Amino acid sequence: MRRMAMMGILLVFVFGLVSTGAEDEPLQGFTRANSATERDWEAKFRAIPSPDNQREYMRRLSARPHNVGSAYDKENAEWILSKYKEWGWDAKIETFTVLYPTPKERVLEMLAPTRFTAKLQEPPLSVDPTSNQQNEQLPSYNAYSIDGDVTAPLVFVNYGLPKDYEQLERLGVSVKGAIVIAKYGNSWRGIKPKVAAEHGAIGCLIYSDPADDGYTVDNVFPQGPMRPSDGVQRGSVLDFPSSSPGDPLTPGVGATAGAKRLAIKDAPGLTKIPDLPISYSDAQPLLAAMEGPMAPKEWRGALPITYHIGPGKTKVHLKVNFNWDMKEIYDVIARIPGAQSPDEWVIRGNHHDAWVNGAQDPTSGQVALLEEARAIGELIKQGWRPKRTLIYCSWDAEEPMLLGSTEWVEEHNKELAHHAVAYINSDGNGRGYLEVEGSHTLEHLVNDVARDIQDPETKLAVSRRAQLRDIEQARTEDDRKELRQRPDLRIEALGSGSDYTAFLDHIGVASLNVGYGGEDTSGIYHSAYDDFYWFTHFADTDFVYGRALSQTVGTAAMRLADADLLPFEFTDLADTIHLYQKQLKQLAENERAELIERNKEIEEGLFTATDDPRRPKVPPAHVDVPPFLNFAPLDNAADTLTHSAERYQAALKKAWPAGVPAATLQDLNHKMMESERRLTTPEGVLRRTWYKHMLYAPGVYSGYGVKTLPGIREAIEERFWTEANSEIVRVGTVLDNESALINAAAAELEQAAR
Ligand SMILES: [Zn+2]
Repeated sequence: MRRMAMMGILLVFVFGLVSTGAEDEPLQGFTRANSATERDWEAKFRAIPSPDNQREYMRRLSARPHNVGSAYDKENAEWILSKYKEWGWDAKIETFTVLYPTPKERVLEMLAPTRFTAKLQEPPLSVDPTSNQQNEQLPSYNAYSIDGDVTAPLVFVNYGLPKDYEQLERLGVSVKGAIVIAKYGNSWRGIKPKVAAEHGAIGCLIYSDPADDGYTVDNVFPQGPMRPSDGVQRGSVLDFPSSSPGDPLTPGVGATAGAKRLAIKDAPGLTKIPDLPISYSDAQPLLAAMEGPMAPKEWRGALPITYHIGPGKTKVHLKVNFNWDMKEIYDVIARIPGAQSPDEWVIRGNHHDAWVNGAQDPTSGQVALLEEARAIGELIKQGWRPKRTLIYCSWDAEEPMLLGSTEWVEEHNKELAHHAVAYINSDGNGRGYLEVEGSHTLEHLVNDVARDIQDPETKLAVSRRAQLRDIEQARTEDDRKELRQRPDLRIEALGSGSDYTAFLDHIGVASLNVGYGGEDTSGIYHSAYDDFYWFTHFADTDFVYGRALSQTVGTAAMRLADADLLPFEFTDLADTIHLYQKQLKQLAENERAELIERNKEIEEGLFTATDDPRRPKVPPAHVDVPPFLNFAPLDNAADTLTHSAERYQAALKKAWPAGVPAATLQDLNHKMMESERRLTTPEGVLRRTWYKHMLYAPGVYSGYGVKTLPGIREAIEERFWTEANSEIVRVGTVLDNESALINAAAAELEQAAR
């Protein structure tokens, strides 16, 4: 025994001589000896992913259109499967059967004041070799719009958000019985037809204004990366924030062959009105023909026209019909069983389906995932085995609304609740800065990992580069101070828009979404021009950020798979809750102050006094001033969480160096896995109960954009004051349950240290 200890000291000493300061500290959750071994394997891993391989995988996967239901979508799944197998993974395809509408008929024409028929086509470009695969391309459309045939006046609604309709009301313009035309951007696209229908519109067009992703930003494709005049953004408009993502016919259960299905007419989430996305070359004649009030300054785009709100004499005919078919989808699921704890699963995914050729979305992320899988296969050959099971997932049918991942999670719900440690997602990749969103219990882990990844351009650690960029972009002195002093960079919370949604929001698996970006601009999103030619001319052209993504996510997955004690951390979580608590109080206060001021202005006659009779406006209506909210239950719970998180850290620091008994460790690991589940409730978020997480949810009126502490935040935003108070109590209870778990873990460590 003694001799062993001596050797240990000697080894540490020698290791100390050659290593940097940071490496003297064992990795979080690892004993000193295991930390050194882990660092060694991680370094070997990071040397393997190859940019050239990623380029070749992308050439293959994006060679033809591979939307759901296409021949090449299936071929890609089978090719990905063969790769996993070649690299030593235990891999298979899991199939689901889902409702997937495709266009049968699309007509958009202006009948008055002049006649115009929209092209609704993305023409081939001679320099771009895959842009001419028109017989395989899915026409431009929005999936899960209902069928419809409507003729009506046209009204321009800016981005089509609730606040835009408040402005319209003041301008005295109603969309009742009208077709609206909204700009893409500033919200998830499905919000636009939803809010339009809520205001009585009977049809919805969405177009890409060049101010947002066209010539105002940079040259257009093929001269530059931006959207050309005929480029169209496809995409799903399934109202998932108010219902659920996944197959609309099987909410909450896996869409297996024998699953019970709703009738299409009863499927929640289909739009209420027909909807079609169009290019700006198709939008321009419509917008130019409109009359009525001038669009407010902030609404105007970059087309060479005068932007009016309408309707004037415009009359537009919109007709869309879809093939409401069932399609097979192919999730490729690959495993490396854990050597010590095979029942603890670390899960990693990126989708493989695309709207068209999809080089950027999703292939740039898929090829990084594949290189991780190959590198892990290499490590296995060299003798590494993960302690826990690794599950790599190449999802199908993400584009129509996260169908592949959602159905898989719903089907394996019970197993995942017991076995899932964490889920790490990516969905495409770019060039520039590390961008991470996720569960705040993993904020510390991801910061640790980012300190070990080298930025390809500057050779700085990617964490340092991200920190300096954040300082550059910070608006206040306080923000800069925090960025310089807080040990971990903050990560954003997850809203939705990719395959982590079911893991995090539905079953409470701690999740991360990782990618690089910020140095490039792009205007090919969900168009036929998102292809190999575009990506290799305008994005991560040498795939070095693809390699960085493989290194980042692979390192995180290995660390989660190998840690003696799962590296969840709660002081960052508690600190984040305090931040949200402050934001919510501010939000309630602003809402109050704004309504008091507005009522005062109504009383003093401001709106009538300042009305211009040639451009008349309707004064806003009086709204009762909201009551003060009782934040005490949240304040108390947030403080309790901070105390328990600090207690756990202190206990860990004391117990860890001496070693923790195996049985205690096993129990602690179960508590760590449980920690994210504890943030969910069986009842879920009010009125949309598929969403179980009480800290994070996509917004009912933002879609992909996250609402943190959604029950409270949305109640304040929508002025449901009684509900806001009761939601504060509910969130307080959830946080108290979390604190109890952390305290129990701390107590075990304190016991072990005795
Ligand atoms: Zn994607």
